[in-house]
Amino acid sequence: MTTGVTVSVPAKVNVQLAVGPLRPDGFHDLANVFFAVGLHDRVTAAPAETLRITCSGPGAELVPLDEGNLAARAAALLAARHGHPPAVHLHIDKDIPVAGGMAGGSADAAGALLACDALWGTGADREELLGLAAELGSDVPFSLLGGAALGRGRGERLTPLPVAGRFHWVFALADGGLSTPEVYRECDRLRGGEPAASRVPEPAPAPALLAALAGGDPAALAAAIAASGNDLQPAALSLRPALRRTLDAGLAAGALAGIVSGSGPTCAFLVKDTAAGHTLAQVLEASGTCRAARATTGPAPGAHIV
Ligand code: ATP
Repeated sequence: MTTGVTVSVPAKVNVQLAVGPLRPDGFHDLANVFFAVGLHDRVTAAPAETLRITCSGPGAELVPLDEGNLAARAAALLAARHGHPPAVHLHIDKDIPVAGGMAGGSADAAGALLACDALWGTGADREELLGLAAELGSDVPFSLLGGAALGRGRGERLTPLPVAGRFHWVFALADGGLSTPEVYRECDRLRGGEPAASRVPEPAPAPALLAALAGGDPAALAAAIAASGNDLQPAALSLRPALRRTLDAGLAAGALAGIVSGSGPTCAFLVKDTAAGHTLAQVLEASGTCRAARATTGPAPGAHIV
């Protein structure tokens, strides 16, 4: 592709994911502490006669290339709102694991919004883009925003959070994905099904976790992750028991904390610095408990044109 606009957009890990009661509409209220990290997809928008999607990178064969692709839906939504023909070639270069609990599809939707807006000159401001993003999915606004943020509602009502310094992470990538709706269903089942799943407490962010982010303190963040963590983790482990071995391998090798990322199956490990990250990534790859391991840092900026 010779002409076009390319947007880089980060993956996320949920350093806390508190899942509230099952609502009558089938969704859950969340207290979701999003944290953007340095694994990126690149979305390139180029002129075309019709809406067309291509995809490259690991797991590309699992990504739908029709209107089921979240990036295609994003382009169509922006076009419809501005009376623009939905004609664009979107190329997605994936580095975020597909169905990995790191919001890869949401990242591509955010990337497509920004790239199409620039290509078409629709001139949508930040507020409009965030509104469109929320229509597309609860993780899409955060992919635009980046950094760290508290998500309430289904995760889409965002408040940016202060973070001091950088935190170092290692991600253990798994073979195959987990379906997010299936993981929520398993969470409700483990809570005793209806009506018990509708009676769990309202979700709330952990003050110690927010303080650890603001203070740039990895040991305090690790303790807060161990205390409040990810309410979807028991469900992800129930559906994929082998993830227990991945988490144990990372913790045994010295990670400060280990957590399933979002709905899984990617596992996220907090480490103290870059050197510890590289060592842990090597140990995890050698352990045979994951497909690959990647060391990176955050917070990363949200979707931006490169
Ligand atoms: P989340 O963390 O937001 O729950 P995820 O990271 O677990 O999501 P995704 O990578 O977003 O999962 O993919 C979930 C499903 O969405 C995939 O199995 C795929 O069928 C579909 N999908 C639609 N568009 C995309 C896209 N652009 N990239 C990846 N998957 C997509």
